[in-house]
Amino acid sequence: MPALQSPDASRKVLVSGANGFIGIWVVRTLLEQGYSVRSAVRAEEKGQHLKKMFGGYGDKHEIVVVPDITKEGAFDEAVKGVDAVEHIASPVTFNVEDPYELITPAVNGTVGMLHSVLKHGTSVQRVVITSSTAAVVRDDPNPLEFDENNWNEQCLEILAEGGPRLIGHIKYRASKTLAEKAVWKFWEENRGKITWDIVVLNPPYVFGPTIHDVASPSALNISTLEWHKFIVHPTSSGATNEFLATRGGGWVDVRDLAEAHMLALEKEAAGSKRIIINAGVWKWQDFLDAANAISPPPKLSQPLPVGNPGAGSADPAAIHMLVFKTDRARDIFGLKYHTIAETTEDMLADFESRGW
Ligand code: NAP
Repeated sequence: MPALQSPDASRKVLVSGANGFIGIWVVRTLLEQGYSVRSAVRAEEKGQHLKKMFGGYGDKHEIVVVPDITKEGAFDEAVKGVDAVEHIASPVTFNVEDPYELITPAVNGTVGMLHSVLKHGTSVQRVVITSSTAAVVRDDPNPLEFDENNWNEQCLEILAEGGPRLIGHIKYRASKTLAEKAVWKFWEENRGKITWDIVVLNPPYVFGPTIHDVASPSALNISTLEWHKFIVHPTSSGATNEFLATRGGGWVDVRDLAEAHMLALEKEAAGSKRIIINAGVWKWQDFLDAANAISPPPKLSQPLPVGNPGAGSADPAAIHMLVFKTDRARDIFGLKYHTIAETTEDMLADFESRGW
């Protein structure tokens, strides 16, 4: 199935959610590798930081404003003349009352993008969708290992029943699961008439340095906000040593995930597959230990806590661990992932440079 062969200025990629934590790293990676990029944002002012950051690329980088991705035909203009699409935009918060505040933009935005490509993306060869391991996992008292055959039916059951089990992260998981299910339904219904193909990437927690427009720690995206809260401020966040030593799962550095987004355009074998992008297992204490091993220590607004050194050690048998098989990503992408130590050093250097 089609894949982009040689990145050059004539290869243009539409990136939705381009002003977000992951989106801007995807834009940067593509530009650095020679692609032209059309960054889609919700409003003119949301493109300002991107314009400034990538001004040096001249007309190889452009902004398109798509005010409401839930509207039919929202991406009709944006997909014209591009060779590929990276659809990353989706709401990421656990703090909503109505689950459809997440589900509607996640599903309609994704299906809408696919229909726009079907109708107007005459030069498109690949569409990469950023799903999540939220669409793969389920909570269970026993440690479980997941792969691409697993689907998060559990969150859909809880969504259907409503009630107290329908907490924030379940609503988010439902939005990602329904959006990804809609992708594969579209694929089944339309594969006979489309000349392009689809790749779905399923990352777990994504950490790494922030390059999008963030004025204060509270404005960080959800995953790095949690990282900042539990590594820099665990005491004030109410996290106990036991919490830090037992909570964790899978993770990937945002720069590796951005590279996976680029490779998903280029690797023929990625076509028509969902692919878990996971660097390994972690617990908060592992990041805390890595933070305290940095020499000289980063100059943050307050000294780093220590927690209970060594208590994490990423034991997959511990409760609350989600473990993922990564053979498919290894075979298709062969990524060399950042380590916990490398990502921790770069995140803390980023916080230090911002005076946090
Ligand atoms: P983020 O920084 O919050 O970025 C989200 C992006 O989506 C922003 O550009 C945002 O635009 C856009 N967006 C959100 N709601 C929208 C809506 N209703 N209409 C149009 N655009 C909307 O989050 P992120 O961490 O980079 O996440 C990006 C993608 O990766 C999401 O699909 C998420 O599910 C997936 N993902 C993230 C993680 C993680 O740990 N971070 C893990 C797995 C998967 P505005 O700035 O205008 O709101």
